[in-house]
Amino acid sequence: MTRAAERSLLLFPGGSLGEYDLPPDLAVVLARGAGAQVWDSEGRAFTDFTMGWGSAILGHAHPAIVEAVRRQAALGANFAYVTEPALELAEEIVRAVACAERVRFCASGTEATSYAVRLARAFTGRPRILKFEGAYHGANDVGTVSLFPRRLLDFPVGEPTSAGLGPGAEADVLVAPYNDLRTTTRILEAHRHELAGLIVEPLHRCTSPLPGFLAGLREVTAEMGLLLIFDETVTGFRLAYGGAQEYYGVRPDLATLGKGLGGGYAIGAVVGRGDIMDLVREDRLGDPRYVWFASSVGGNPVSTAAARATLGELRKPGTYVRLFALGESLRAGLRGILEDLGVAAQVQGEGPLAALVFTDREVVDYRTAFASNRALARAYLLGLFRRGIFLNPMSTKLYLSLAHTESDIARFLQAARASLGEAAGVA
Ligand code: PMP
Repeated sequence: MTRAAERSLLLFPGGSLGEYDLPPDLAVVLARGAGAQVWDSEGRAFTDFTMGWGSAILGHAHPAIVEAVRRQAALGANFAYVTEPALELAEEIVRAVACAERVRFCASGTEATSYAVRLARAFTGRPRILKFEGAYHGANDVGTVSLFPRRLLDFPVGEPTSAGLGPGAEADVLVAPYNDLRTTTRILEAHRHELAGLIVEPLHRCTSPLPGFLAGLREVTAEMGLLLIFDETVTGFRLAYGGAQEYYGVRPDLATLGKGLGGGYAIGAVVGRGDIMDLVREDRLGDPRYVWFASSVGGNPVSTAAARATLGELRKPGTYVRLFALGESLRAGLRGILEDLGVAAQVQGEGPLAALVFTDREVVDYRTAFASNRALARAYLLGLFRRGIFLNPMSTKLYLSLAHTESDIARFLQAARASLGEAAGVA
């Protein structure tokens, strides 16, 4: 272990900044990144397939972002008030994202989803929210109820994945199986008078919606007077410039943005219908439906300048064709390796996202994924890490960026073949 990694293990729980810990023999401290590469404190290079959990969608240290940040940093980092970069970014978001009539910025996806749920509760005057089992909506209560459930209780009963949630968390979060419109509709019907709405990752982790599922959610929520929230923290500006709502052609009432929007800089946003978003106006203070929504650094000019530069690059012709071609090449390569090695797994993902689930069954929701060989997944991922691929070994989801090249994909596939062969004992 490097000296820097030893120091980090002493200071940070698990030697980590969050979610996952690397085993001590793999622990690294990163020094820098450029494009799709990162280097550790000893100068060892890795090809990055997590890209700041998808936030560095242009690649690391993209010149357009570096320049925008440099320019803005010299003009002041934060005023906690509207600036030109925030204004221009919001104008561009409203042009790009179908449901976005108004915008409010915060600093992360977790904040955005927390506020979106709060807005839904305030707007409808109802306390409960429905989510899909296994979905992540940030580190708040809604995101952590039934994130990685183990007991697989009967729907719609949720199971907290974290201790320390608020006393109402389990009661207020109802859980449904993704891609099962009939069961979801039944739960919505049974609880419609207590439910504010439904929050969904349109692409659930890396599991695609079955045809008609998202449109069906739109229809039943509208019929019942419930709000539909798309958590587009991952899908926003990634599956298409207009996000999942453009890609799948379904318009929610509210959507949350984060990650890729900022190109690696801290940002989150809630966007949506004006009549809902306006509940946060200060002149409504005292109104029973008024929503407190505040963030000292949310929408700061450095992050919004970085985001504006990011969108400027993403808007260029050919961007999404390229991101999708890279993703397809990665997924096709993985399918080929699985076939060659005779390992049963599902290759998931759309656009610049890919994941492997080691099961011979079709994966449509959390339970079909949970029934997979997760020990093999872990061994495969750690094997990739050992072979110079930087990733999050807690999740098989891989993020590509505009900086990746076909040779990065080839390097990954070579490592994947070796790692999988070793992990599955078929080398
Ligand atoms: N929603 C989804 C769908 C996410 O994937 C994440 C992050 N992995 C979040 C919300 C939370 O975003 P953040 O980590 O910026 O708080």
